[in-house]
Amino acid sequence: MFGEVFDYIVTGAGSAGCVLAARLSESGRFRVLLLEAGPKDRNPWIHIPMGFTRVYADPKVNWMFESEPEPNLNNRTLYQPRGKVLGGTSSINGMVYMRGNAADYDEWRQRGCEGWDWDSVLPYFRKAEHQERGEDPFHGTGGPLRVSDPVERHQLADRLIEAAIQAGLPARADFNNGDQEGAGYFQSTIGRRKRWSTATAYLRPARGRKNLRVQPMAHATRIVIENGRATGVEYVCGGRTFRARANREVIVSGGVYGSPQLLLLSGIGPAEHLREHGIDVVRDMPAVGAHMQDHFYVRLAWRCTQPITMNEIANSLPRRAAAMAQYLLFRNGPLASPGTMAGLFARSDQRLERPDLQFNFTPWSYASRDRKGAIAHPFPGFSLSAIHLRPDARGTVRLKSADPLAAPAIRFNFLQTRADLQAITAGMRLAREICRQPAMAPYVAEEIIPGPAVNTDSEFEANIRQNALSNLHPVGTCRMGQADTDSVVDARLRVHGIAGLRVADAAIMPTVPAGNTNAPTIMIGEKAAEMILEDAYTASETTRAA
Ligand SMILES: Cc1cc2nc3c(=O)[nH]c(=O)nc-3n(C[C@H](O)[C@H](O)[C@H](O)COP(=O)(O)OP(=O)(O)OC[C@H]3O[C@@H](n4cnc5c(N)ncnc54)[C@H](O)[C@@H]3O)c2cc1C
Repeated sequence: MFGEVFDYIVTGAGSAGCVLAARLSESGRFRVLLLEAGPKDRNPWIHIPMGFTRVYADPKVNWMFESEPEPNLNNRTLYQPRGKVLGGTSSINGMVYMRGNAADYDEWRQRGCEGWDWDSVLPYFRKAEHQERGEDPFHGTGGPLRVSDPVERHQLADRLIEAAIQAGLPARADFNNGDQEGAGYFQSTIGRRKRWSTATAYLRPARGRKNLRVQPMAHATRIVIENGRATGVEYVCGGRTFRARANREVIVSGGVYGSPQLLLLSGIGPAEHLREHGIDVVRDMPAVGAHMQDHFYVRLAWRCTQPITMNEIANSLPRRAAAMAQYLLFRNGPLASPGTMAGLFARSDQRLERPDLQFNFTPWSYASRDRKGAIAHPFPGFSLSAIHLRPDARGTVRLKSADPLAAPAIRFNFLQTRADLQAITAGMRLAREICRQPAMAPYVAEEIIPGPAVNTDSEFEANIRQNALSNLHPVGTCRMGQADTDSVVDARLRVHGIAGLRVADAAIMPTVPAGNTNAPTIMIGEKAAEMILEDAYTASETTRAA
């Protein structure tokens, strides 16, 4: 028995889900239910830019997943924070605004995803955007998502950029016009000096709409499928189970872990795996939970000669209090900083056509960063992380149990190929080379991580196996493609073979773009909403004509 009836039900109020709920309810014509497993975004640390270090490991707003042991990383498990709150991971992420390389999207189209090449997706990046630098052919203004430069520059970031140029890289003012190679300041999804999550950007303006119901603390447990059509969603809220009907469509936006998990629980996935867990097979689809790709990350850190880093603030209660007062009174100072404020893109091998390495610079360094949080070094320090953007590694998301509230089993399978090891080693060597340039030399007291004992290829390899991490940009577990044998959704994001069901979030990406994944996911939300509305209006016209 269904309870309430809607036109669309969106499961998951994350980077994509908030966009969908806001756009689908915009005309006032359709009734929309947005289900979110987490709470409202009332935690004040969510909204303070540097507060992301506080929500990085807060179970009240974070799923705090842990991967299975990684065989090629000395069997270490990798911490996986994910937002469990309105705004999803856009409410806890590092706020870097990065779209990736134009060729990444052209490649999607070359894999059969018609309409997803760079020229076709650019209008949706622009539509979402309110770019503080103003409008140009690559950037939009007037959109819900605020994109800004850091409030204040940092002398270490200035020097780092200069050093990268001394090492032979070009200067870059805009990383979001399809080309990325070079060094410069990054932009962030920060507006009015606050985090601009998709809950802030899209849901807040839609709050008063009578045709939109946002239901926090509501965990979707199953998609109801009747005669090959998704007709509703079962969810648990306050310990009770509800069933809502979707007259038009169910849109799954639970993210790279939540979306495949919900499909599997609903009988859509590899048949054998479903049977193992006693789940009736609705459709055998091997690609659900397969083909997961993530960026591969390794951190380098240096002790700084001068007390100009954020470590000194993190390690001093009076300075933390002063930073908070400064932020509350003037909305500036260290807490208004985006954290990852500058960096560069480079190629691990000059024979490559486009950059496959990203380097993130932060004016702080930490001794550890895991589910216990990030602990700053007890001395001035800074970091330059090397990130391999196009690893060969592919992982999986599988059920550990048929309990819808249990965490899924996450496997990355990093370092399956020698090429992946070579690329990240080249990244570490380049980061070190940059910090040896004259512009940085006066600030370097010593290299802390990996440290001077690491020099040969085998020493780098041992260090990488012991320390490298997921860069928290996994995608692809419900990937888009032409056939149901190796993909889950078609180019209009419709689940193959099931009517009235789409997936729209980072899980549909066929391959990971070369850059942070929030902006691409918001673009997916925008494009998905437009396609869903197009289909709704076409269907109404067809009915009228008949
Ligand atoms: C710590 C961290 C830092 C990052 N930094 C950056 C950055 O600086 N820049 C950048 O571009 N990207 C960054 N990313 C990545 C980026 O934020 C994500 O790729 C993006 O937010 C994914 O969006 P999504 O819509 O696919 O999933 P999410 O935003 O995770 O949304 C999924 C939503 O669905 C909800 N949900 C899941 N299952 C259910 C269910 N069964 N029922 C109801 N609700 C459910 C979740 O609670 C969540 O709210 C970062 C990620 C992390 C973890």
